[in-house]
Amino acid sequence: MTNHPSAKKITICQPDDWHVHLRDGTLLKGVLRSTAKVFRRAIVMPNLQPPITSIDAAFAYRDRILASLPRELSFTPLMTAYLTDDFSSKVLEKGHSKGIFFAAKLYPANSTTNSASGVSDLRRIDFLLETMERIGLPLLIHGEVTDPDVDIFDREAVFIDRHLTPLLTRFPDLRIVLEHITTEHAVKFVESNGPNLAATITPHHLHINRNAMFLNGLRSDFYCLPVVKREKHRLALRKAATSGKPCFFLGTDSAPHLRSSKENACGCAGIFNAPFAIESYVEVFEQEDSLDSLEAFASKNGSQFYGLPSNKDSITLIKESQTVPKYIEILNDQGQLEHLVPFHAGETLSWRIETKNSNGSE
Ligand SMILES: [Zn+2]
Repeated sequence: MTNHPSAKKITICQPDDWHVHLRDGTLLKGVLRSTAKVFRRAIVMPNLQPPITSIDAAFAYRDRILASLPRELSFTPLMTAYLTDDFSSKVLEKGHSKGIFFAAKLYPANSTTNSASGVSDLRRIDFLLETMERIGLPLLIHGEVTDPDVDIFDREAVFIDRHLTPLLTRFPDLRIVLEHITTEHAVKFVESNGPNLAATITPHHLHINRNAMFLNGLRSDFYCLPVVKREKHRLALRKAATSGKPCFFLGTDSAPHLRSSKENACGCAGIFNAPFAIESYVEVFEQEDSLDSLEAFASKNGSQFYGLPSNKDSITLIKESQTVPKYIEILNDQGQLEHLVPFHAGETLSWRIETKNSNGSE
């Protein structure tokens, strides 16, 4: 990395996105380029309808992703299994040995978009977690309780205390990623429970607090799960992301929904940040005077946690402003034009990608 805190240009090893929703069908075709043009690899979430619960389904989804990939881009989708109460440990093991299950995703039932078939009670899948611990298959967690009696802003913290703490005791060698953390509590918990526990942090949780959802009215563009929290949590996340600590790495949780699904009597949770994700992160690192730590967070810590080599290529970011479009046009499954609203829509970001530098060795 060539970099200095006051640099107007920085070059980092090509980043990876360790948590992304690429969707399916026409939406997949419409959003894939945004991720693949910047990120070399991405862990692809399995919450399709129906979810990815078999080896065949994972292979078929990977094929659909690769078939939608623009030819000039090199991109490796890393596939995940969607855990359910009755998932078979044999299937998990076989999918892992065939190289199609890179990790398994735990959605507590009904915690977020398309999670109705998720796990109803963590204790019920101990047999799966035993297998995963033994074969070294990482567990990716959407860490929120779904108990309607728990305040929505407290659901992550309650999950950590109620479920994650005992889970770490039961399975000390299981490698776990607490995805898209949103609180100071999660930051401290992850920091003090390594090295088998790590966390991803999204760009939106670094930029906005919960006021954004209610600015001059109800703003569904800023509604995601876990929901954004108070300012003190955003500040704790910014400190964690820019700390360079190996337990924190990039995972955008980019989660596109068509405008018609966002602006609706029951609008969907999810923020589509893929089109300007790295620009969004670099802005935070610059504001925190931590550009030197960007490469660790975006390009090194994640691959290290997952036991993969760093990417050989690099990208150069230059401090030149650009305005994010208010919306991106996309075809829906019926072939009609619809809108996707990207994170930072209408805002001016101060960095842009200058070049992607190939080392020609892959
Ligand atoms: Zn997600």
